[in-house]
Amino acid sequence: MLSKKQTKAAIETMGELFPEAECELIHRNSFELLIAVVLSAQCTDVLVNKVTASLFETYRTPEDFISVSLEQVQSDIRSIGLYRNKAKNIQGLSHELIEKYDSQVPHDRQALEALPGVGRKTANVVLSVAFNEPAIAVDTHVERVSKRLGICRWKDSVRQVEETLMDKLDEDMWSDAHHRMIFFGRYHCKSRQPNCPNCPLLPSCREGKKRLKEAAS
Ligand code: SF4
Repeated sequence: MLSKKQTKAAIETMGELFPEAECELIHRNSFELLIAVVLSAQCTDVLVNKVTASLFETYRTPEDFISVSLEQVQSDIRSIGLYRNKAKNIQGLSHELIEKYDSQVPHDRQALEALPGVGRKTANVVLSVAFNEPAIAVDTHVERVSKRLGICRWKDSVRQVEETLMDKLDEDMWSDAHHRMIFFGRYHCKSRQPNCPNCPLLPSCREGKKRLKEAAS
């Protein structure tokens, strides 16, 4: 397992590889970010951005999303996976924002996680990106990279991965670490074809060393 020092060094290296790492979901405010993150579940940011480019011209506020039928919202996001459920959640959370939070996105984890379709990962992204709060959202890339490198154990749950990262990294690194690990997982340590031969983290990566050994035998 990587020590705290090695984990920090790995995140620094990812920052050198991807100094521009940041949230790739295009948004103008916390409400648009919340909707984009809800849409992004099991879907690429590229596709979400394609859909929200026109969606956010029509729907700018929670009131806009509930002023039309559910079928209309479904139709407007139908190129996105799980669109039926996502449309239902978007209307549900819009209702809640209007009724409980004066149509604003609450700056509060518990309140965010109580919204329809909003889990811990979505809340973490909103807290970190919209409100600049220290948080690490563990998505598929963060989980894969953490496990391959040996920052955490293979059998760890998503919540355990998050807790291990929070333990091994200083709080002021959490948000940057989240974005760097996503970029690193998305563009370098890819799910199917990680670029191990050209990886600066290879010397300390258990998965990379195993893969190269297998390839050589
Ligand atoms: Fe990923 Fe391979 Fe680099 Fe390890 S050595 S972090 S598996 S690309």
